[in-house]
Amino acid sequence: MIALLATAAADPIVDRLVRESLASDEPWAELVELCDDIGPRLSGSRGLDRAVRWARQKMQEDGLAVQLQPVDVPHWVRGAESARILSPVDEPLDVLGLGMSVPTPPGGIEAQVVVASSWDELEAIGDSARGRIVVLDPPWQGYGETVGYRWAGADRAMAQGALAVLLRSVTDTDLAVPHTGTLGYEGDQRIPAAAITPEAAARFRRWSDRQRTVTVRLDLGSEMRADVSSANVVGDVVGSEKPDEIVLLGCHLDSWDVGTGAQDDGAACVAVMEAVARIGALDVKPRRTVRAVLFTNEENGLKGGEAYAAANAGKVHVAAIESDTGMGGTLGFRVEDRWYEAADVQAWLPGVAELLAPVRSHGVQTVEAGYSGADIGPLLKAHGGLGLGVLHDMSGYWAIHHTEADTIDKIDPADLKTEVATLAAVAWQLANAPTLPGPAPK
Ligand SMILES: [Zn+2]
Repeated sequence: MIALLATAAADPIVDRLVRESLASDEPWAELVELCDDIGPRLSGSRGLDRAVRWARQKMQEDGLAVQLQPVDVPHWVRGAESARILSPVDEPLDVLGLGMSVPTPPGGIEAQVVVASSWDELEAIGDSARGRIVVLDPPWQGYGETVGYRWAGADRAMAQGALAVLLRSVTDTDLAVPHTGTLGYEGDQRIPAAAITPEAAARFRRWSDRQRTVTVRLDLGSEMRADVSSANVVGDVVGSEKPDEIVLLGCHLDSWDVGTGAQDDGAACVAVMEAVARIGALDVKPRRTVRAVLFTNEENGLKGGEAYAAANAGKVHVAAIESDTGMGGTLGFRVEDRWYEAADVQAWLPGVAELLAPVRSHGVQTVEAGYSGADIGPLLKAHGGLGLGVLHDMSGYWAIHHTEADTIDKIDPADLKTEVATLAAVAWQLANAPTLPGPAPK
């Protein structure tokens, strides 16, 4: 590790990668194409198919060795959605169905509302949930803490006899916007669920506190069709000395059907493509293979990440880096700790921090233990190796996450350049280091 520390900052190739990344407008132009000309990219959609072909072509134009890895993905279609508060007022209610939700029965569901702000409150309602629409109103306690209500709310309300769930959007910002995201059903008995705005949830809570009788009608026209074929887009710069050792840069190409998936996760995709292309354009090859992977179906299935791990048993991934926390300013890395001893992870942090030396002056300097990313999770779990998740300034992220407002205008082109510089510099160092920070692959 010490050898790496001594050489990293002095490597003129790293300096060149950083300088050229910070000067290039190409990834921004690509992000405009992806968001404006292709648009939303939910699994099963024509948009995702087009994005896969587009990414393959971009990588080929950049001289990478490209392959499409076929993956079967779910095909959920939103359909028409509407809701109305029938009493104590008569007015429309803004809803956005949760991904993978079953539809309401023909004619919709009309029922009284009960409100619960926690699992404990839901359980305390007991049988009174029967035949009702449950409004789940969990306060924001961070994404990881709160998202469980979106994932399991329908199942748990169904277990108490509820007909449907309306969920307070999982967000830290109240701007009268509903946020979608996937739910998970465990069994075959399923009830529909939709997001409502934080403001609407708070209003239902106030009515509940004042013991008003509240009635809502909900219509969700979603449809679960047969799985369709999609693909992970994989592009390599093949290593000169150890081609079978891989440094992976990853992100997900699919998005929700609202907005255009600019922050989640289109910007990271163009950054990953550009970082690997810049390494490929050097007149010297990396010792190890540097690989871009644009995963499919992160949002409602994780089939791309699972298929990649399954197809790469026996392939040595010395490091896997995922960028999937928006494109606010790049701050550093989170070192995956889920399948490793905490003391070991702490011992890897200084070595990872040294990788940031070439971009530290651009504000990229934080290294901490934690969750790296969803798509590389199955790979790391099965095959080990160093897992890194890019840390970003997320102060503007949860406001637009999984909404119509996830569009390119929220992104600063300068932040995209810093991301490319960071990914290129770190991937190059990992691909050439005689000694690697982090765990050996299994
Ligand atoms: Zn994402």
